[in-house]
Amino acid sequence: MKIKTKLNAGVGLLFLMIIILSALGGWFIYQLKKDTQNILVANYNTLQYSRNMLLALEEIDTDSLAVAEFQKNLTLQSKNITENGEKETTQSIRNHFLNLKLDKTNTDLQSSIRKEITELMQLNMSAIQLKSSIANTTAQNAIAVVSVAGILCFLVAFILMVNLPANIANPIRELTASIHQIAQQNYRQRVRFEGNSEFGELARSFNTMAEKLQEYSESRIDKILKGKKRIETLIDNMHDAVIGIDENRKVLFVNDEALKISGLKRNNFVGQQIQDVAVTNDLIRTLIKEIIDPESKKDQPNSLKIFVEGKENYFEKDIVDINVIPTGEEESRFIGQVIMLRNITPFKELDLAKTHFIGTVSHEFKTPISSIQMGLQLLENDKIGNLNEEQQKLVKGINDDTVRLLKITGELLNLAQLETGVTQLNIRSFEINSLIQEAVNANKSVADKKKISINTHLDSQLTTMIADEEKTLWVLNNIVSNAIRYSSENSQVNINVEQFESDHIKFSVSDQGPGIEKQYLNHIFTRYFRVPGTKAEGTGLGLSISKEFIESQNGRINVESKVGKGSTFSFILKENLNKKTETI
Ligand code: ADP
Repeated sequence: MKIKTKLNAGVGLLFLMIIILSALGGWFIYQLKKDTQNILVANYNTLQYSRNMLLALEEIDTDSLAVAEFQKNLTLQSKNITENGEKETTQSIRNHFLNLKLDKTNTDLQSSIRKEITELMQLNMSAIQLKSSIANTTAQNAIAVVSVAGILCFLVAFILMVNLPANIANPIRELTASIHQIAQQNYRQRVRFEGNSEFGELARSFNTMAEKLQEYSESRIDKILKGKKRIETLIDNMHDAVIGIDENRKVLFVNDEALKISGLKRNNFVGQQIQDVAVTNDLIRTLIKEIIDPESKKDQPNSLKIFVEGKENYFEKDIVDINVIPTGEEESRFIGQVIMLRNITPFKELDLAKTHFIGTVSHEFKTPISSIQMGLQLLENDKIGNLNEEQQKLVKGINDDTVRLLKITGELLNLAQLETGVTQLNIRSFEINSLIQEAVNANKSVADKKKISINTHLDSQLTTMIADEEKTLWVLNNIVSNAIRYSSENSQVNINVEQFESDHIKFSVSDQGPGIEKQYLNHIFTRYFRVPGTKAEGTGLGLSISKEFIESQNGRINVESKVGKGSTFSFILKENLNKKTETI
């Protein structure tokens, strides 16, 4: 049965019972009222008239008004005849009263009338008794009937109260529990209330929905599994090593390449904490250093040399954080990391070949260029013979080009040595002032040509330092030469050397040149990088070599620049590189 019908029937039944109860109550009250009315009208009035007649009879022979009073009550009594025998008694009283009116002192007549009035009263008293017992019975019946009807109403109400809320609440509770299960992706959940009620319909719709969700989820899981397989195959076939870990650093997947280069077995790797694997494996230990301590990232080299199957291989390390935004949430959550080792061996081999080539070529160039320089010096010598003006100009031009060529070959040779790792530090004591003067002298002729004055300032307490003189001079020379090359005529270049943090020395070279835009400041120390639009000739190698020379001595190189105002290049070195203190 439908809930609506049940509710209608229940409430309707109660309503009907209330109506019946009210009708019964009303009917019984009416009956009781009728019985009382009967007693009042029919018998009580007769008693009243009889009493008045008796009183008038007492004074009939003395009081002239008594006859009229008797007559009035007798007339009233004649109209109020209700009981059997009352009519005859009243008629007899009337007859005797007619005779009494003629002979008022007749005591026999008086006593007959008195007796008949008493009889009349007796008759009505009995009638009152009878009617009172009828009214009593009616009242008892009323109590019984109303009680039965009341009990019936109570029973119906009680049954409804016990059944109806449970009938509605139970399915709702079951449905709520099932919805909860569905929300937790338990799509196998079904509700089981049957029947034709609204809940039955709701259950059918709910079960259909759950079935469809289950179908959808199973097809989605199938799709996800296929997608996962595809991605796993893809990762396995990659030439780069890939290791995936979750947010608790548990290894989720490892591809074949990663197993090959780490020399580990899949069973000993997947499902383990990566730090446990690192205990027995050097490569993994190196790889996860950055994960364990993110601060150490800047000290970690990005490329690694690993021996795989007896051959040198080069890899570039990349650690990617995986952050996802869960459905229904707004903030992304960290769920793990992917460690990738990109195999850059072919590029590295090509790069090394290029470096060897550059090294060989620049080395081979050095001797002929030096011979050309010597030849030029001889040509400039008056003892050999005088040159005319035209020839002098030509010799000067050749000399300038030779100097430039020598600078370039010097830079290329340095680069090749840095890349092959053959550069070695030659730490010894030298005078700082001589170093500055050498750098000034080397650049003097170019500065004079552009009418650029080079000013130097050296802290008076600074005299000597212990470092690689050749490399430090090379760097100072390079940044002074840049300052002159990139500045316009009639400007100034300042070289300032001062004490820094008690045991360090800071070399700064400031110019009034064009300055460098902020966006390029991070790139100018990268090999071959030149600020776009730079007109002066150059290779883009000087600053990168300088950086490596300074960092190889545990120093730091820096630039500050303002477009249109000029640049200041500075480098900081330890005053005594042989003295062991913490590095800067
Ligand atoms: P090169 O000078 O041979 O191009 P560097 O490595 O010495 O190579 O310099 C890299 C680039 O930085 C230069 O090409 C130039 O654009 C910029 N640069 C270097 N020094 C200065 C300077 N003092 N003023 C303005 N730009 C400079």
